[in-house]
Amino acid sequence: MIPYGKQQISQADIDAVTEVLTSDYLTQGPKVPLFESTLAKLCGSQFGIAANSATSALHIACLALNVDSKDIVWTTPITFVASANCALYCGASVDFVDIDIDTGLMSVQALQQKLEQAKKSNTLPLVVIPVHLAGQSCDMKSIKALSLEYGFSIIEDASHAIGGHYQNLPIGNCQYSDITIFSFHPVKIVTCAEGGVALTNNADLAKKMQLYRSHGITSNAQDMDEESHGPWYYQQIALGFNYRMTELQAALGLSQLTCLEAFVAKRNALAQVYDQAFSSSALTSLTTTTDNYSAYHLYIVLLPDSDKEKHKAVITALRNREIFAHVHYIPVHLQPFYKKLGFAAGDFPVAEEYYSRAISLPLYPELTEDEQGYIIKTILELL
Ligand SMILES: *Cc1c(COP(=O)(O)O)cnc(C)c1O
Repeated sequence: MIPYGKQQISQADIDAVTEVLTSDYLTQGPKVPLFESTLAKLCGSQFGIAANSATSALHIACLALNVDSKDIVWTTPITFVASANCALYCGASVDFVDIDIDTGLMSVQALQQKLEQAKKSNTLPLVVIPVHLAGQSCDMKSIKALSLEYGFSIIEDASHAIGGHYQNLPIGNCQYSDITIFSFHPVKIVTCAEGGVALTNNADLAKKMQLYRSHGITSNAQDMDEESHGPWYYQQIALGFNYRMTELQAALGLSQLTCLEAFVAKRNALAQVYDQAFSSSALTSLTTTTDNYSAYHLYIVLLPDSDKEKHKAVITALRNREIFAHVHYIPVHLQPFYKKLGFAAGDFPVAEEYYSRAISLPLYPELTEDEQGYIIKTILELL
């Protein structure tokens, strides 16, 4: 079976992890801070806070922005459930903004309309979480402009997008957001096995996220609510979690980062082959806008018609032919858990149409020319 995505692990990665195993620190050592500062520098942001997953990073990002039970957080329905769950963890309520069908990204027009209505009904969101689906940035410049007008904070869920550029700058620089999140799950661009990071240019948010990542405990006397008892002393000043990344994960991440540029270049080259092969077919590839250099976490095509049965038949046939096609994503509001919260089919019609047409084809650096040729031939025949 050709998977839709997979990690690429080198001997250097194995050596980096093995070295940590025989070092003094398996956790809370020097590799995690080095990984954080390397990521921040690479992306042009000031602070990096690593966590044991992007989901944890999204949670502490919401906490740092003071999301609580009085608040509303908006994201897109076409994302992994974690982009919405992070707000529910804080007791907040979640709502969604519909997408543009040609990019699969949060629609700025839909966002603007929803904000106008929310202003009238006094239900404006505290935080909006745009998701850089497949590896290309949302229209962050416009979303930032709306945030200034309507007063919300922004978390970029860039789980798909490390190594991508927006307006010629690396995604993660937080020019148009408060916090940016990357995931290091093995299907993503570079991996720590499990892991995530939150990047920010705001020292106060960075400090809060560090605190929430590790039990709400500080050893820094200046941050303590009461006087220190002595050199052994630590103090819990908030309710945090154990969301720490291990030294093994950070060492793997650091080693993987040395290949980031090459991985993304290869993904782009493979995407171009798909683009060309489908350009005169009935399939529509998602559009990449001119201000983006996509990290191409995913290669997504849309079938010509919104026909659930046909969609299922094509994906089933691909899997029967050893091609593990997938769908990114099932609209979050249609998950049974979210339906129980009051969402229903028809709430976000563009996302629902997208879902009935979208197919993710295999894309990862080690995908061979032969394999890609077979995938192209197979899907075109199936149409
Ligand atoms: C993978 C992913 C996450 C969660 O990442 P983990 O590191 O697995 O917690 C969140 N949001 C999006 C869009 C993702 O693709």
